Amino acid sequence: MIAILDSHAHDHELEACERLQPEVVDLPRARAAVRELLLALGEDPDREGLRDTPSRVARMYREVLAGRQVDPALHLARTFDEAASGLVLLRDIRFSSLCEHHMLPFVGRAHVAYLPEGRVVGLSKLARTVETFARRLQVQERLTAQVADALVDNLGTRGVLVVVESEHFCMRVRGTNQPESTMVTMAARGLYETDDAARREVLSLLRAPGR
Ligand SMILES: [Zn+2]
Repeated sequence: MIAILDSHAHDHELEACERLQPEVVDLPRARAAVRELLLALGEDPDREGLRDTPSRVARMYREVLAGRQVDPALHLARTFDEAASGLVLLRDIRFSSLCEHHMLPFVGRAHVAYLPEGRVVGLSKLARTVETFARRLQVQERLTAQVADALVDNLGTRGVLVVVESEHFCMRVRGTNQPESTMVTMAARGLYETDDAARREVLSLLRAPGR
């Protein structure tokens, strides 16, 4: 495993912020929709506790869905030379996302591994990439695949392996009521698709003690 210092974090972060795409959440419309939903649920949206709820909920959606405004390629655009080309693995990237079937959160960790082809990216950019895809209406399978494909498309790697484990609140609070179950998804690209031993190496590092 190579340790990588992210020396370019600061200026690149600013650049990413400046290049945000236009706002996608229509706040007045979201407020009206939440008010309408409260009425549909048999509530009185004008009672004291609910009076500010429509605007709070609208702003909350703007925040948790902000990933659509960011082009993940921006995070991965600046790479730097690294002659040693061993495995790079960033474990335990915490994320929260919103399941598109129930609009309830799913929260967990992503683990991102890749085999560089001479160029590497700052570790914080891997975490940013996960966050950018998580802050959307999602399903976990797609989130996993999008992170893997973004690395393939932007880094020119020999292989990418992304593992995501999370708890889905739609499983906790409704339906089958399985509060303890976690969902694990994996996306393998390049060498990790075909080389079982390489894939096992990453998976054993994910099980390694001391995490
Ligand atoms: Zn769900």
